Amino acid sequence: MEFKDIAGVCPVCGGPLIYGENAVSSKNGSVDWTCQDCGATGKEVYREVFDSHQDVRLGDGRPVPPRET
Ligand SMILES: [Zn+2]
Repeated sequence: MEFKDIAGVCPVCGGPLIYGENAVSSKNGSVDWTCQDCGATGKEVYREVFDSHQDVRLGDGRPVPPRET
C-alpha cells in the first residue's frame, strides 16, 4: 500500500500527523510533524500551498528514502 504526499497524513503509514510547536510561527514554509500512529517524523513544505513531505524518518530515527516521481 502506498501513500501519496497529502497534508496532514503520514507518508509512512497513513496515520494522522501531530504538528510541532513551530507550526504557527513557521517562517520558512515548512512545518515539523510527528505521526500519531507510527511515531515517524518529518516536515511539510509549503510553497503557497502544500508541496511535499521532506526529511521523513521512522519512529526509530531511520530516514525514509524520497520516492522517485
Ligand atoms: Zn505513521
